[in-house]
Amino acid sequence: MKKIAVFCGSSLGFSDIYKNEAIKLGNYFAINKISLVYGGGKIGMMGILADTMLKKNGEVIGVIPGLLRHEEVAHAKISEMIVTKTMSDRKVTISKLVSGYIALPGGFGTLDEIFEALTLSQLGIEQKPVGILNTNGFFNHLIKQLEVMVTEGYLKESNKEMLIIASTVEELIAKMDAYKAPKKTKVINKVVS
Ligand code: AMP
Repeated sequence: MKKIAVFCGSSLGFSDIYKNEAIKLGNYFAINKISLVYGGGKIGMMGILADTMLKKNGEVIGVIPGLLRHEEVAHAKISEMIVTKTMSDRKVTISKLVSGYIALPGGFGTLDEIFEALTLSQLGIEQKPVGILNTNGFFNHLIKQLEVMVTEGYLKESNKEMLIIASTVEELIAKMDAYKAPKKTKVINKVVS
């Protein structure tokens, strides 16, 4: 994987554990020449991740909707900033650039982005690895919720297994590298008139 999208909080969280893991991921990317594609912000977990990579001369590509750019939260020092019209355009642009997705701890925005990636996988539109870095068990309750969805008949076990879960950076990247998407009938985007 040459370029990976990382979705993570625009907040830093209360515990340094999460920030330190974002730093670990940034260093891993820079050392292994993996480009970061992310939301383009300079705040919270996003800012820490981007700054860590820039310190090590890593490539950082931000994809930000015009709306957020003007809130002065856009990172001014990254390698490239792509400005999109809307939030939806940003997701499409990110998906065209990357060969995998990772979520670190975050809030609504983070979950929205990682679940969109999973939905594309579930429909067979994309075949890329989607992983969460479960630092300090941050996502344990979410994982439990996915199990409830399976037992209650709303999520197929095979689709749940598309989500790669790891508690260290090395383990996550190894699992993502080994990921093989299940064979699916591809959804064809046909316009019927
Ligand atoms: P949240 O998890 O709710 O903090 O939202 C974080 C995610 O939403 C990131 O992955 C970004 O893509 C996007 N996002 C939220 N706030 C901003 C911001 N101020 N600048 C850029 N992207 C943001």
